[in-house]
Amino acid sequence: MTNSTPDRYTGPTENIQGDLEAPSLTAASGSSSFWRRITSPACADTDPDEWVPEDRERPVVPPRLAALCESCPGRAECLAWAIVSGSSGYWAGTTSADREAMTAAGNTSLEYADVLQAAERARRAEPLHAPGWGSAQWYRKRGCRCDECLAASAARRAKQRASASTSV
Ligand code: SF4
Ligand SMILES: [Zn+2]
Repeated sequence: MTNSTPDRYTGPTENIQGDLEAPSLTAASGSSSFWRRITSPACADTDPDEWVPEDRERPVVPPRLAALCESCPGRAECLAWAIVSGSSGYWAGTTSADREAMTAAGNTSLEYADVLQAAERARRAEPLHAPGWGSAQWYRKRGCRCDECLAASAARRAKQRASASTSV
């Protein structure tokens, strides 16, 4: 395999270190064809599928991925890239929902990203119901994001998908 032809960025292991033609990271580029330029990303040897889940993203970035981003030398650039490109996934220790909230609030700093994730972790750690009462109803109608409700909601979605695929 040769590195002479730069590839479009498609995942964390295909970072653009080899993409010498890529434009610099600037918010002004504002297009989804914009590339990111990160040297030695902490996610370089990880599975790209982990970063863009097939199912819906969880409200809290999986701890292992969050720890990698925390230690990554290119986190600020990665966050800017994820916001400008509109890519889904857990980039730079944020979820897509975080990035939408940051854009809406006009605050795209790493500090604000950490505040949003900390708030979501706190919310998730405290169920809105008695232990054992988590359910997809609590998740959907009352906004509980505890582990029980997340699991119940995921199970409900899986069941819906399974019944949709058998009815086709
Ligand atoms: S901030 Fe996270 S997702 Fe972005 S390049 Fe670094 S490790 Fe990868
Ligand atoms: Zn709950």
